Amino acid sequence: MTETPPTPGIHHVTCIAGDPQQNIDFWVETLGLRLVKRSINQDDPGTYHFFYADSEGNPGTGMTFFPWESMSAGKVGSGQVSRTAFRVPEGSLDFWENRFDEYGVDYDDRVERFGSEARSASDSASGDEPRAETVLPFRDPDGLPVELVETDIPEDDPTDPWAEFVPEEYAIRGFHSVTLWVADPLPTQELLETMGLEKVGTEQAQGDTPGDERTRFAAEGPVGKYVDVLPTIEGSRQGHGTVHHVAFQTPTDEDQEAMRTAVRKEGLNPSAQIDRHWFRSVYFREHAGILFELATSGPGYDSDESLEDLGGRLVLPGEFEDRRDEIEANLTPVEIPTAESPAAEQ
Ligand code: ZN
Repeated sequence: MTETPPTPGIHHVTCIAGDPQQNIDFWVETLGLRLVKRSINQDDPGTYHFFYADSEGNPGTGMTFFPWESMSAGKVGSGQVSRTAFRVPEGSLDFWENRFDEYGVDYDDRVERFGSEARSASDSASGDEPRAETVLPFRDPDGLPVELVETDIPEDDPTDPWAEFVPEEYAIRGFHSVTLWVADPLPTQELLETMGLEKVGTEQAQGDTPGDERTRFAAEGPVGKYVDVLPTIEGSRQGHGTVHHVAFQTPTDEDQEAMRTAVRKEGLNPSAQIDRHWFRSVYFREHAGILFELATSGPGYDSDESLEDLGGRLVLPGEFEDRRDEIEANLTPVEIPTAESPAAEQ
């Protein structure tokens, strides 16, 4: 139906945080992700860029943050990625609620999505209809809304959990979905279809989301497979606790160029390809103003550090290495928690 090479799904999600140490402690120790790259914002080298992922930094597992300490708290609303959801194995939410109690994490009651009352999209014949799923909504220390979704993880899943702080049987296994809040859903929905995602279901929104219809789109998957779209006129403001952009996987340069062309035909204005050192990227704002990125699978986070050493040192790409002393002097020192030296004891 579409000439665009379909995307396997989400590549990474990038967010804005406040205190860098608080961000590391939460995402590494409390949630159990691996810090696979400690670098700087290439457009603002006075700010860190932290990349958290599975043990290998596989595409579809990377949550990244700019800790912009001078910025103030943001507000989640229209024209933003409003929720970022991660896959966890079936039956693991009891573990996570206990862990959240232990670590003082702010979480809500579980929500069921796409249960018996969900209506399948009439044109969906792919066998890809969403199945009932249980969701645990919570917030990170900056108030960023995050969700854990129980998912059937296959034996041959492409993610490789990092079991330093969270046992493998409960560990986060990459992205489940992002939810987009937009004032006018139709143009955004049409763009997702142009990008090769398929509409697979709708249901009445519930929980802490606007009271209207949730429409689900599916990519090839299995990681970062879904994008949900909800209409809202709720005002938004960028700042701590909000998403900066979402990146979709375009595995090769050819895939990316084909997607770039398709997006341009939609009347959008994609950038030229930019070398982000661990992947190559194209950026554009979709119709509602949400910043989308297209990212290649390679070269990967292990292209400049061994798999074993990922995240161990501050990596300065390209010409920034020549300015290391100046750059390091401007960054707040941080400690990476390890099982031998958890944040609580540092
Ligand atoms: Zn990005």
